Amino acid sequence: MPESEVIVVIGAGVIGLSTALSIQQTLGSTQSVLLVARDFPSDTSVNYASPWAGAHYRPVPGSSPQMLREANQAQRTYNYLKQVAAAEPAAGITFVQGVEHLEAPPPEYLDSQSVRNAYSHLDEFRSLASEEIPVGMRWGAEYGTYVINPPVYCAYMLRKFILKGGSTKKYVLENINEAFTLAGNVKTVVNCSGTGFEDPKSFIIRGQTCLVRNPVSATITRQYADGTWSFCIPRPLDGGTIIGGTRQPHDWDPNPSPEIRARLLTNAAKWFPFTPDSGGQFDVIRDIVGRRPAREGGMRIEVEQAGPGKNIVHAYGAGGRGFELSRGVAEDVTALMCETGLLPAQVKAAL
Ligand SMILES: Cc1cc2nc3c(=O)[nH]c(=O)nc-3n(C[C@H](O)[C@H](O)[C@H](O)COP(=O)(O)OP(=O)(O)OC[C@H]3O[C@@H](n4cnc5c(N)ncnc54)[C@H](O)[C@@H]3O)c2cc1C
Repeated sequence: MPESEVIVVIGAGVIGLSTALSIQQTLGSTQSVLLVARDFPSDTSVNYASPWAGAHYRPVPGSSPQMLREANQAQRTYNYLKQVAAAEPAAGITFVQGVEHLEAPPPEYLDSQSVRNAYSHLDEFRSLASEEIPVGMRWGAEYGTYVINPPVYCAYMLRKFILKGGSTKKYVLENINEAFTLAGNVKTVVNCSGTGFEDPKSFIIRGQTCLVRNPVSATITRQYADGTWSFCIPRPLDGGTIIGGTRQPHDWDPNPSPEIRARLLTNAAKWFPFTPDSGGQFDVIRDIVGRRPAREGGMRIEVEQAGPGKNIVHAYGAGGRGFELSRGVAEDVTALMCETGLLPAQVKAAL
């Protein structure tokens, strides 16, 4: 009888959960998946990025290898999340109108081919005419996009993983090689730990946002010439609205700054269409501070030999785009595992 094998996936953020589900669609008959993490969807920690995300999809035009790879992963994720939203409303994903206004668009936003490459897959995409763009802004677009309630979506994926036969273990790994010892016959460890294990290319990007009860019906992003943004993102299933946000590389401050909160809310009151009965006042639920797990050059997706018959498959460093890239990354990791013989070379049905 063939020996049973356990594949350990480290990390229960959006990347680990998406990857574990994708691997489950391709498992051999003697393989099973054990999800090991310090934090699971019911936990909150500044170092666990997923629950704190907006999370919406806003394409990023660009022609570097990283940008092109991400654009491909983001498009596949968009198509996948459209199917999930239609089939399973409890997953916490809704499609709404997305609006962008840029004060100083970089060259890639002024090149029509580059804009088409990044945006044309979006439902009802259109560039805004100059008279439709608010005063002071120079570029604008509208399209159909998704917004996600991250704690709900992550809990949904975890539930699905367990129902499909996956096991979980809450555990803090001191070293990635420890993962090979957490079950009998572990040949493959998939590293979806966000920041990796002491990778010198990894760094964090602090994000501060504010969750308010005031509803909005669209996600709107204003990007200013100094590189800062204002955005509002409705969270499906009555999850409130995220008002954002900051992007602060290498800033380890875990405390919300009252000055940042005041600036975010002042901008939001000026620009975003809250219902008239709010009187321009915000009903704040909480301040949010999270650390986006970024990596120079983008995500690391590759197989590393960890000794005879042992492999580590890396999938970390999603930065500020983990939800946007999640399904594309999960599919790429699964395909890589099939190519390298860590999974059978066959993919079963989607969803
Ligand atoms: C304020 C803010 C707004 C954002 N908005 C958006 C958005 O609109 N769209 C978007 O796509 N993204 C957004 N992001 C980014 C998104 O949240 C991240 O890209 C994503 O959550 C990264 O997912 P991950 O699974 O790689 O990492 P994480 O969610 O951080 O998960 C890492 C997992 O690894 C586990 N782990 C780590 N080390 C160990 C260890 N030693 N032992 C055991 N387990 C370990 C953790 O416990 C956790 O389960 C935002 C982030 C922030 C902070």
